[in-house]
Amino acid sequence: LSFSDIVLDSRVLKFLTKYPKPTPIQSAAWPALLAGRDVIGVAETGSGKTMAFAVPAVSYLLSNKIAKKASVLIISPTRELAMQIHDNLDDLGKAVGIKSVCVYGGVPKDQQRRDLKGASVVVATPGRLIDLVNDGDIDLSQITYLVLDEADRMLEKGFEEDIKRVMSATDPMKRKTVMFTATWPPSVRDLASQFLKDPVKVMI
Ligand code: AMP
Repeated sequence: LSFSDIVLDSRVLKFLTKYPKPTPIQSAAWPALLAGRDVIGVAETGSGKTMAFAVPAVSYLLSNKIAKKASVLIISPTRELAMQIHDNLDDLGKAVGIKSVCVYGGVPKDQQRRDLKGASVVVATPGRLIDLVNDGDIDLSQITYLVLDEADRMLEKGFEEDIKRVMSATDPMKRKTVMFTATWPPSVRDLASQFLKDPVKVMI
């Protein structure tokens, strides 16, 4: 498949011309996500998984009116990974006029609070996200597209309760939910069955 077989928005297509063709996980995930399904992606880092969930997220924002408030939320187990995801999303977002922000712990909240203003995409680690929700700095009730990235690592790091808190601050009727994981143990299956609706599972 070529990009234009799957991805519709011309601005997104233009951004993707830096790559030769979709990776296998992108070819599998994009049609399901663009059709509005929840998706479980079993894939390792290096497979192109970030663009696998980022391109449909941005396509959604572009096909609706871009709200100047958090509509897309990506949760990641570590600050390093969150920053990496944000770098990717920020490049794509800048190409199409969508603001994204990265929030993680270990640094003061002030700058992050300011950056949250007007951001449609939030990339976050669980602890800091909960903090900002509790402080009233971020409203998750309008999240329409939520990604749990490296779900297996988040559970290994003990973030299950934080994930549940985040989920309960979102509206399950409004949100599409995407989960990426490198492995598929019972604990990850349980998490998926709690939060994803009739998901399409894509493996590479
Ligand atoms: P990830 O699995 O998201 O960590 O991505 C690994 C690397 O693949 C990143 O440097 C991406 O920029 C790159 N990448 C993403 N999509 C493609 C593609 N379709 N073709 C080639 N490289 C890609």
